Amino acid sequence: MQILAGLNGGIIEKFAAPHLANKWIPKMIAGEAICAIALTEPSTGSDAANLKLKAQRKGNVYVLNGEKTSISAAAQADVAVVFARTGSVEDKARGVTAFLVPLDNPKIKRTHFDDLGESVVGRGSLFFDDVEVPAENVLGEEGLGFIQVMQGFDYSRALIGLECLAAAKKSVEEAWEQVSTREAFGKKISKFEGVSFPLAEAETFIEAAKLLCYKTLWLRDQGKPHTAEAAMCKWWAPKVPFEIIHNCLLAHGHGGYSKDYPIQQRLRDVLGLQIGYGTSQIQKIIIAREKIGRDGVPY
Ligand SMILES: Cc1cc2nc3c(=O)[nH]c(=O)nc-3n(C[C@H](O)[C@H](O)[C@H](O)COP(=O)(O)OP(=O)(O)OC[C@H]3O[C@@H](n4cnc5c(N)ncnc54)[C@H](O)[C@@H]3O)c2cc1C
Repeated sequence: MQILAGLNGGIIEKFAAPHLANKWIPKMIAGEAICAIALTEPSTGSDAANLKLKAQRKGNVYVLNGEKTSISAAAQADVAVVFARTGSVEDKARGVTAFLVPLDNPKIKRTHFDDLGESVVGRGSLFFDDVEVPAENVLGEEGLGFIQVMQGFDYSRALIGLECLAAAKKSVEEAWEQVSTREAFGKKISKFEGVSFPLAEAETFIEAAKLLCYKTLWLRDQGKPHTAEAAMCKWWAPKVPFEIIHNCLLAHGHGGYSKDYPIQQRLRDVLGLQIGYGTSQIQKIIIAREKIGRDGVPY
């Protein structure tokens, strides 16, 4: 949840009117309010700029109608950054505006998914039925929400990497402990290279991926471009932990398959983060685009 606050609080801090930021940010930091990001819809995920949820201006308010799905913390969030179409579908990304929407509105209905992992945060859908949002709740500029606010995802992608790497690191520590106490064929199993080498490789991969995440955050702190590095963090840093945690589970033998150990939970949790906040394929398209421009983009 703290990671979620860090990810989404940064967006509010940068783009919300001061009185809205002053209301929500201290609560999020204190752990008293949760902010969701509502981008994905039933028919658009990777192709997010094609989203359909409609926001129609009526005087000093916008009226929101439509559905968001696969939203982390949908059931318990207090507020959401909702991406909605204010322009035409042909405007694509340039017709999308971001809104800060308090979710304690009876015209917003929520559902909760029964997921493989990340049960503490959870996912669900948000249904908007004539939901009025004050115009002052627009984040960034009208029609530029997608372009401006989505840049905050570069920050979240490095944090997601570190979150997954922490789960891998803990699993490796536990696996070292397990293999240096468990015996087979009259020896500690840590003496078999087939057991110790995957863990030694895991230590190497964790260090390398962690440095990539730190470098990305450092570039951001320096105000330097870091979109390609953030995309590298997002596809690689969750994939490496999934493979590492898998190996750690196997190093525990039959015990690893039990819910008595937390390893299986970490495996399920990091799997979700290979999809959430943009899939691996999409991150590789971003890297190619950053290196060679539109020639690296398939659409
Ligand atoms: C744990 C979790 C948490 C999430 N949290 C949030 C959240 O808080 N807020 C939110 O808005 N969304 C959230 N999502 C949704 C997530 O962002 C989307 O699932 C993701 O962007 C992929 O969209 P999709 O599921 O529609 O897949 P699709 O876009 O239908 O893609 C399906 C497959 O096709 C591949 N694909 C699609 N286009 C291309 C292409 N051009 N080239 C190559 N491959 C391609 C994808 O990589 C994927 O493997 C979450 C998802 C998960 C699993």
